Amino acid sequence: MFEAARTILRQLFLKPATNIFPAKYAPPSVLLLLERVARQEVKLHPPVTVPPGFRGKVAYDRENCTGCQQCYKVCPTQAIQWLPDEKKVKVFMSRCCFCAQCVDVCPVNTLAMTGEFLMAGYDKYAEDLVILDSGELPGSKKRKKPEAGAAGQTAEPA
Ligand code: SF4
Ligand code: SF4
Repeated sequence: MFEAARTILRQLFLKPATNIFPAKYAPPSVLLLLERVARQEVKLHPPVTVPPGFRGKVAYDRENCTGCQQCYKVCPTQAIQWLPDEKKVKVFMSRCCFCAQCVDVCPVNTLAMTGEFLMAGYDKYAEDLVILDSGELPGSKKRKKPEAGAAGQTAEPA
């Protein structure tokens, strides 16, 4: 009881934890907002730094993907589409529930959850919401490419 009262009292004197991003009482038009910011009538609040392990936008290393389909099979929201001709996948962020199961199951670490969370938009098929290739990811295991001319070669007799 004493501890609860102490916590309540302490909270009364703390600043609110909510980050008023991007601004308090932002007008409906972005241009108007920028004009008001230029006139120093509105203060912009930058986004907070996300903690380690944050599950934001999915990144996909297409080059190193082996096409095993594990991510496609495990995704609970069908946010991952299998592309049979290319043996690659495509991720629709508008369907993603940020569970990270695809990341956990990928055997070559070619999927990752990034810290990016600014994904609001009117078009769910917008280019930045359909993940085709994010380039090489730091943790992805590079596929060993066959050396040129190695196919069909027979070993030299000793
Ligand atoms: S994070 Fe979850 S919902 Fe999003 S693509 Fe991966 S498995 Fe699907
Ligand atoms: S689990 Fe990984 S390697 Fe397999 S298809 Fe998905 S992204 Fe590619």
